[in-house]
Amino acid sequence: MRSGRENSVEAVTDLIIRIPGGTVVTTKSKDAPIQEKPVNPTFQAPYGREEMNKMLGDPLPEQKFIGKKYAYSKKWARNYGRLLKKGEIPAYRHRPLWVNKAVVDPFLCAMLLLEGAGFEYKKIGCFNPRPKRYNAALGPSVHTWAAAFDIDAKENPSFIPNLDSPTPFSPGWKQRSKLTEEEVNIFEKYGFEWGGRWSKFRDPMHFQFARGY
Ligand SMILES: [Zn+2]
Repeated sequence: MRSGRENSVEAVTDLIIRIPGGTVVTTKSKDAPIQEKPVNPTFQAPYGREEMNKMLGDPLPEQKFIGKKYAYSKKWARNYGRLLKKGEIPAYRHRPLWVNKAVVDPFLCAMLLLEGAGFEYKKIGCFNPRPKRYNAALGPSVHTWAAAFDIDAKENPSFIPNLDSPTPFSPGWKQRSKLTEEEVNIFEKYGFEWGGRWSKFRDPMHFQFARGY
C-alpha cells in the first residue's frame, strides 16, 4: 500500500513544473519540449466592468485624471499588483512586468506553452491607466486593471478595418500582424480575449483578461 506522500511524489515527477502563483500546469523534461499534460487549468475572465472590479479590484474608486492618465488607487496597486521579475516570464526575457495578480496564472500558463512552442517576444506592455484608445468615451482600457497585454506592438499594430481589410489569418493578414493563429489560440485557451477579432477596431497586439468590456 502506498502512502499519501508517495502518491504525491509520484504525481509530481520531474516532468511537472510549478509556476509563480502555485499552479501546476505543464510538464517538462530536459530533452523534450514543454508538453501539455492532463493537469491543465482553465480560467474564466470576468465579464463586464462590475465583474472586473470584483476579480481584479477597482483601480479607479474616484475617476480622476492626471493629464491623460487616470489617477489610480495606490491601495488597489498594493493589494492587486504583482511584479513578475525578469526571468520569471517564459518567452519574454527583457524586462520585469507589473501585472494584476489575478492574471498571473493564466498569463504564465500561456507564456509557458508559447515558449514550449518556440515563440519569444521582444516587448510586452501591461499596466497603463488610460482610456480606451479606440474611443475614450467607452471608459478605461483593461490596461488600467493591469489585466491586458500588448505584445510586440510594432509588429502587431492596431488599425480600423474597412471592407478590404483582411480578417484574422486570411490571405493578407500577415502584413497586419506577425502573430500566428497558434499563438492566439494559446492565449484564448487560457481565457484571454484577443483584440485582433474586434470588428470596429482591430488590435492584434492586445490580449485582455476580460470579456464583454
Ligand atoms: Zn492593449
